Amino acid sequence: MTPRSIDVNIAQRTGADMSATSAAGRIAKAECILVTIPFDSGGLPVWSFTSNPKNTFDVMLVRIETDTGLVGWGEAFSRAEDVALRSLIETRIFPVIIGEEANAISKIKHKLEFGLQNFGRVGPTMYAISAVDIALWDIAGKAAQLPLVDLIGGPFAKEVEVYASLLRYGSAEGVAKATRKAIGEGYRYVKLHDIRFEEVAAAVEEAGDEAAVMLDVNCPWTVSEALAMDARLSKLNLLWLEEPIFPPDDYRGLAKIRATGRHRIALGENAGSLRDFVAMADAQAIDIAQPDVAKTGGVTELLKIAAFCDASAIEFIPHCAIFGPGQLATVHINAAQRATPLLERLYFDFDAELYGDAMLPKAGRLAVPTGPGLGFDPDMGVVERFRVA
Ligand SMILES: [Mg+2]
Repeated sequence: MTPRSIDVNIAQRTGADMSATSAAGRIAKAECILVTIPFDSGGLPVWSFTSNPKNTFDVMLVRIETDTGLVGWGEAFSRAEDVALRSLIETRIFPVIIGEEANAISKIKHKLEFGLQNFGRVGPTMYAISAVDIALWDIAGKAAQLPLVDLIGGPFAKEVEVYASLLRYGSAEGVAKATRKAIGEGYRYVKLHDIRFEEVAAAVEEAGDEAAVMLDVNCPWTVSEALAMDARLSKLNLLWLEEPIFPPDDYRGLAKIRATGRHRIALGENAGSLRDFVAMADAQAIDIAQPDVAKTGGVTELLKIAAFCDASAIEFIPHCAIFGPGQLATVHINAAQRATPLLERLYFDFDAELYGDAMLPKAGRLAVPTGPGLGFDPDMGVVERFRVA
């Protein structure tokens, strides 16, 4: 036995805290910054949460600093300037994590989930926990001087294929034009958010054999309505059909639609944890799992879900309708998968980019960042310019 292993054994027996010497250090400071950046899409926001939808997009940043001087950035899913979520993060999350060893990522995540279970296993509480988890993985990478992908098994790919996730245009001409534009920029996969047959058919015709087309309808239908659309859409050869019914956790209903065999069913952006995916699989409701790193428990939970999918013949293609640290984390997670998933990117142009042009796809592809942690920190000039809270 080497002296080093003796030390570890003594530490385990006595409960001595050997990790206090880790490069990551202890969490000394935490801050939440809400940024909302205008964009131009040529379409309608799908997420009209208020009666006055705006063409701006939130990035809810969580910045964690350790006593060794490392800074990690995380992101919680946010829409429509979610100041309530920011308050939740500051009042219920930060007091619990200050002073913790930053490298104890799973322990901190468990402590938060266990302590806050009464406030929801799906939704804002999990978004907040997700942000902390992402920031701690960023710190872990910076402490190790390695990109995140190297900490989670290493890369299968140096770049990821990106799909253009179009908005809702509400007219056959509008969606066909956007489809053509995306193909012209080099995208080979296009996802639609229009929900009427005419618009979907127009986009599929425009794509021809130049791009595969997926359809995400964001839960508009009852089961019987969805079954009728499932039959009508079947001749369009869509790559998948995403969230056809409300509520999105009606797994029995989703299983009925999946049972027709006409479409592969994609689900999961509204899930809270691995357990929800187990329930979807048990119900025979799912072909493609779409956890969101900024909603579903961060990097730690997505890696568990990826392993579950691998063992369950379910495709793992994370949801990614975010543009901050969560998007960076998703690129690393995707790159670490053997069947490297497509990366989702909402198809619009921002007034400013948080990472310069580093996260702008070229010919439908995006390079996996090679810097430590997530690979990039946000441009603080952009953060301060568009900060709202
Ligand atoms: Mg979706």
